[in-house]
Amino acid sequence: MSALKKFDMYIDGVRTKAQSGEYFETFYPYSGEPWALIPRGNEDDANKAVEAASHALGNSEWADLNATQRGHLLRRLGDVLAKNAERLGALEVQDNGKLIAEMGMQCQYLPQWFYYFGGLADKIEGSVLPIDKPDTFTYTRQEPLGVCVMITPWNSPLLLLTWKLAPALAAGNTVVVKPSEYTSASTLALADLVEEAGFPKGVFNVVTGFGAEVGEPLVTHPDVAKIAFTGGGISGAHVYQKAAASLKKVTLELGGKSPNIIFDDCDMDNAVKGAVSGIFAATGQTCIAGSRLLVQESIHDEFTTKLIELAKTAKMGDPMSMDTQVGPVTTIPQYEKILNYMDVGKSEGAECVLGGSKSDRPECGSGWFVEPTIFSGVNNKMRIAQEEVFGPVLSIIPFKDDDEAISIANDVIFGLASGLWTSDIRRAIEIPKRIKSGTVWVNTYRSVSYLAPFGGYKNSGLGRENGQKSIEEYQQTKTVWISTATETANPFIMR
Ligand code: NAD
Repeated sequence: MSALKKFDMYIDGVRTKAQSGEYFETFYPYSGEPWALIPRGNEDDANKAVEAASHALGNSEWADLNATQRGHLLRRLGDVLAKNAERLGALEVQDNGKLIAEMGMQCQYLPQWFYYFGGLADKIEGSVLPIDKPDTFTYTRQEPLGVCVMITPWNSPLLLLTWKLAPALAAGNTVVVKPSEYTSASTLALADLVEEAGFPKGVFNVVTGFGAEVGEPLVTHPDVAKIAFTGGGISGAHVYQKAAASLKKVTLELGGKSPNIIFDDCDMDNAVKGAVSGIFAATGQTCIAGSRLLVQESIHDEFTTKLIELAKTAKMGDPMSMDTQVGPVTTIPQYEKILNYMDVGKSEGAECVLGGSKSDRPECGSGWFVEPTIFSGVNNKMRIAQEEVFGPVLSIIPFKDDDEAISIANDVIFGLASGLWTSDIRRAIEIPKRIKSGTVWVNTYRSVSYLAPFGGYKNSGLGRENGQKSIEEYQQTKTVWISTATETANPFIMR
């Protein structure tokens, strides 16, 4: 135990132990061994962090910065992040076991959010209204919401935090972050970089621990104005309900069961790669996983054969090795959940044409690995077609024509993303209009950007992250009326 690295929380610019004095272990999924200790926060820690963030809101060091100065701080944080990207990427891998090839790239990309939203900070404008009353000057101001709580999952901790943090800070809010209990280390490390960039104390705070113990007190705290949550649907709905009691603003980025649709006029080699990227990249642990592969009947068998051939070649093993393609599963509960869904698929009568079990390849060592798995002959009513597995388990569902493809694609409770592969310009333009999802990729998959709005239709969430308008999720509008009349009008009638 003494060899484990010990982290502390970050509240009001100070490294802080949990009030309880307790820690819990965090694991390296490739070895299955604990590597660090994370403070186990509770309501006392949540209260302390919200108090610090509330105080910082009115503190002149933050409140009196003009928007250009705030933008400058964000851009400085971008620079500091860029210098530390490699270290942060390795820290993410240590906690969530995803590939360094992916986490390193994600961390190198993070600064762009701070540059983009830093640039936007002084373009937030109110307006002078052409008001329909005499002797009146009326204008609007865009103001910050106040203390924003950010609750993040384990699959891409820093990227998903950045999508919230950059617009929130640009708009002048203060922040309390509660990262996943499985992957808190990178967010705790980020605190040092926020400090190095020069943000005043209390503007950025991190508390760690379990959802029910430290997350929920943040969600119900009366001084919190907004909850930005990314995670599973059950916790998301619970957080939404709890936040509703005090009428907090809420954005939710939740799960998906995204259709990746292969039309018979596609470039087959590209589409096969797109299908693999949709489900086996990140070991399928991504909200946008293309976990339902809808394949047009006329090419179904040929496509399935090619897909199996490519998927079989996926190199599994050490996530720190640049040529590994499929790494371990991040948590033991997730590992067990994936194995259970493999059994569910078999018992529902789907044909397991690849994988279907845990992995005992020697290169996987003692890590939590499962085999890339493909089920064919899946009916969209089956549980493996309806429920989010969040692992490398693909369901192939055949379809006849465009109408049937769209009907199957939309027949789930989710609507986060979708893909389609076609060389027909008509399909490329018309099909996206008919799919009920927040993102549609055509002849590509898994692209995201600070410039492109992201979020879910239906049960996949509320609100949008990324893109210019997402900053509005962290603002409120105030209308100011000034009378220039020399005499006050009849007080008994509405003006
Ligand atoms: P999770 O819902 O179990 O946990 C997410 C976060 O919520 C964690 O920090 C957790 O501690 C916290 N939490 C849980 N219960 C809480 C409560 N009662 N009050 C306050 N906080 C609470 O999700 P996870 O297993 O960490 O992540 C996987 C899920 O996240 C998947 O469903 C995936 O699709 C989803 N996800 C969505 C997106 C997106 O952008 N739409 C991105 C990544 C992951």
